[in-house]
Amino acid sequence: MNQRELPEHPDFLWANPEPKASYDVVIVGAGGHGLATAYYLAKNHGITNVAVLERGWLAGGNMARNTTIIRSNYLWDESAAIYEQALKLWEGLEDELGYDIFFSQRGVLNLAHTLQDVRDSVRRVEANRLNGVDAEWIDPKQVKEICPIINIGDDIRYPVMGATYQPRAGIAKHDWVAWAYARRASELGVDLIQNCEVTGFTFDGDRVTGVETTRGRIGAGKVALAAAGHTSVLAELAGFRVPIQSHPLQALVSELHEIIHPTVVMSNHVHVYVSQAHKGELVMGAGIDSYNGYGQRGSFHVIEEQMAAAVELFPAFSRAHLLRTWGGIVDVTLDASPVVGLTPVDQMYVNCGWGTGGFKAVPGAGWAYAHTIANDEPHELNRPFSLERFVSGALIDEHGAAAVAH
Ligand SMILES: Cc1cc2nc3c(=O)[nH]c(=O)nc-3n(C[C@H](O)[C@H](O)[C@H](O)COP(=O)(O)OP(=O)(O)OC[C@H]3O[C@@H](n4cnc5c(N)ncnc54)[C@H](O)[C@@H]3O)c2cc1C
Repeated sequence: MNQRELPEHPDFLWANPEPKASYDVVIVGAGGHGLATAYYLAKNHGITNVAVLERGWLAGGNMARNTTIIRSNYLWDESAAIYEQALKLWEGLEDELGYDIFFSQRGVLNLAHTLQDVRDSVRRVEANRLNGVDAEWIDPKQVKEICPIINIGDDIRYPVMGATYQPRAGIAKHDWVAWAYARRASELGVDLIQNCEVTGFTFDGDRVTGVETTRGRIGAGKVALAAAGHTSVLAELAGFRVPIQSHPLQALVSELHEIIHPTVVMSNHVHVYVSQAHKGELVMGAGIDSYNGYGQRGSFHVIEEQMAAAVELFPAFSRAHLLRTWGGIVDVTLDASPVVGLTPVDQMYVNCGWGTGGFKAVPGAGWAYAHTIANDEPHELNRPFSLERFVSGALIDEHGAAAVAH
């Protein structure tokens, strides 16, 4: 793995149009999911009279605040299918979008620190293999071979007892992924409208007919929510409820270093996940703050505990200076799985609940959500992730495979 210079941006990124009076589809939220959905609506379904409305700036939400980890090693068949579809799309995305997104398949290790972790991890590896997802169970010595700076001694609070390893997993440069989708969507005719907050909806009976925004009323044949932690606010305005809680989730980067960390290491148990960006910053994520909130920052004690765990696992980090910390608002469901599908409102759709792990899903979820919107019918990949599962009880419990315990 080498440090890389960023290439020059192309001349054209995206147009900055005034909103039109109406669109066939209005997408609320220009994060990764909203932008990918707009692109696949245009590309796969020929629907180009589309607006993506963003209350702030494009990708200013969780999309450019995450730690960029991409993997598909989730436990249940339903999750493996959608995350693996996403990973396959990631593998061709740079070519498809014609833009450098620094996708790097450097492998992801999920560490096990207790006997229960070991049992759960081995079970997940077996389940992954049955679903055609590349996964291995490796012992501490093999962990050290893949990541030489990790401490596998048994005299630390949470000794490394082994790890799951997905070689095809990795990272990508998150803001560039958003810009790549935005650029292609804009080229295909999609209007990307920033500083445009959706504040209400208009209806004809049970059917949504448009959105009220800070830039006026905009008519819509269909409305697709992709607003992550703010989805419950929007759903309430539309007259239904979503079972998500919004929590702060923090991350940080160190100053630049030579390349010392060649892979991605995650520990659900001690709530730390680490990779090294192409320029050399160590990128680390923390656990979620337990309280609900909409402030894009978290509590100091959470980041302090995370750093204590990181320094124990990687003693070399004790010499690294912190450059900056930040937080996002993650949308956590009861079963740690997303909601992608129809809503009780006719012609309104929802994509939310990705919690701490929705970056990796962006291509696969955008692809399936676009199908759902175009056909008014879920795609097989997102059918199990309906809102109704919270009524039927057909939950998809991915707490064990989520980025951090919640
Ligand atoms: C610190 C941190 C680390 C993470 N690490 C990882 C990781 O390593 N791997 C991974 O897979 N995932 C990770 N995630 C999770 C991932 O970032 C999210 O699941 C994903 O980005 C969600 O994408 P989105 O497009 O749904 O949301 P967002 O990118 O948040 O986009 C939603 C957009 O909707 C806009 N919006 C909200 N309300 C309105 C309104 N009323 N009108 C108009 N616009 C509105 C917001 O401004 C926002 O831009 C992490 C998240 C955080 C915060």
